[in-house]
Amino acid sequence: KAAPLGSSVIPIVNKLQDIFAQLGKQSSIELPQVAVVGSQSSGKSSVLEALVGRDFLPRGNDICTRRPLVLQLVQTKSKSNGGSDDDWGEFLHLPNNRIYDFSEIRREIEAETNRLAGDNKGVSDKQIRLKIFSPNVLDITLVDLPGITKVPVGDQPTDIEARIRTMILSYIKQPSCLILAVTPANSDLANSDALQIAGNADPDGHRTIGVITKLDIMDKGTDARNLLLGKIVPLRLGYVGVVNRCQEDILLNRSVKEALSAEEKFFRSRPAYHGLDDRLGIPQLAKKLNQILVQHIKVLLPGLKSNISKALVATAKEHQSYGEITESRAGQGALLLNFLSKYCEAYSSLLEGKSEEMSTS
Ligand code: GDP
Ligand code: MG
Repeated sequence: KAAPLGSSVIPIVNKLQDIFAQLGKQSSIELPQVAVVGSQSSGKSSVLEALVGRDFLPRGNDICTRRPLVLQLVQTKSKSNGGSDDDWGEFLHLPNNRIYDFSEIRREIEAETNRLAGDNKGVSDKQIRLKIFSPNVLDITLVDLPGITKVPVGDQPTDIEARIRTMILSYIKQPSCLILAVTPANSDLANSDALQIAGNADPDGHRTIGVITKLDIMDKGTDARNLLLGKIVPLRLGYVGVVNRCQEDILLNRSVKEALSAEEKFFRSRPAYHGLDDRLGIPQLAKKLNQILVQHIKVLLPGLKSNISKALVATAKEHQSYGEITESRAGQGALLLNFLSKYCEAYSSLLEGKSEEMSTS
C-alpha cells in the first residue's frame, strides 16, 4: 500500500501538537512549504496530485497552471463513520463553501484562473489559495507553480519567460521552502530548467530534490539509471524517478490509485531499474519528503523544549503561591482549605462590588 505524503510524520507531529496545545499558543510546529518547479508540461501538477493522493489539479499537455496555487493541507479529526464527507476543499475566494466533489475543485481552479489571467493562456502572479481538509493529511503547504516557457503564446507578453522565472524565484528563494525540481526523462538533464532555477535559489542543494518524470516514454533503448544515480548531474539530496498518468489516462479518468499500481508494475518489469528501489516511485518521493520533515522537526525541538521549561517554571511558582503541597491527607486538606478560602475571598469581594453597585443605582 502506498504511503501518502506525511503519513509517517503525522503521528509525531500530532503527539507534539498535543503537548504544545496544553501550553497555549506560544509553541507550534511550522512545517516548511514544498514547491514544484520545472518547464511547462514536465509533470509538476501530476507529481503534486500523486503526493496528495487525490485528483483535483488541472493537468494537460498545454499551459494549465497559470497562477500559483497555494495548497494548504489541514488535518481534521477523523469521524467515526469514516464516510466520504471527511475530505473537502475550501477556496479563500469562496469562504464558507465546502466543496466535497474534487472534480468541482478542479473546475473552480480553472474558472478562477480565467477570472484573473483571462482564457487565452495568460499568466498571473496572483495566488489562488485552496485549503484541503482531511484526516489523512499533514498540515503542510504545497505550491503548484506555472512552468517555465520560452515562446509567448496567446495573450502572453513578450517577456513571459522572465516574468515566470521571477514568480518562481519569489517562492523558492525562501530558505524554508523545499524544492521539487521536476525534469522529464525524455529531455536532456543538462538542459533542465528545473535544475537551473533550483540551483539559482539553493546553490548548496540542501533543499532540492530532483524528480524525473515520464520514465515510461523515454526513447527505446535508453533508460534513466545513470541519471537517477546522480552520475549525470549530481544533486546532494538525490533523485526520484516517477511514472505519472499520461494524457490518455487522464481522459479515461484513471485514478491516482490505479496510477500508483501501474507505476510499481512498470519498475518491476524493467531490469534497468532493479536495485534502485530507494529512488523509484511516488511512495519513495513521499518517504524522502517525510525524512526531510522529520529532520526539520528535530531542528525545531530545542526551541520548543525551552518553551516547555519556561512554562513549567511559571506553573511551579503558581503552585507555590497556594502553599505547601503534600501527599498526606492532612496536607491535602490544608491545601484544599487554602484554595477554598482564596475562592471565598474572591467571591465575597465580587458580591460586595455588586451590592455597592446596586446601592448606588
Ligand atoms: P505541468 O505543466 O508540469 O504541471 O505538467 P502536467 O502535470 O500538467 O502534465 C503534463 C502532461 O504530461 C499531461 O498530459 C500528463 O498526463 C503528462 N505526464 C506527466 N507525467 C507523466 C509521466 O510520468 N508519464 C507520461 N506518459 N505522461 C506524463
Ligand atoms: Mg501544472
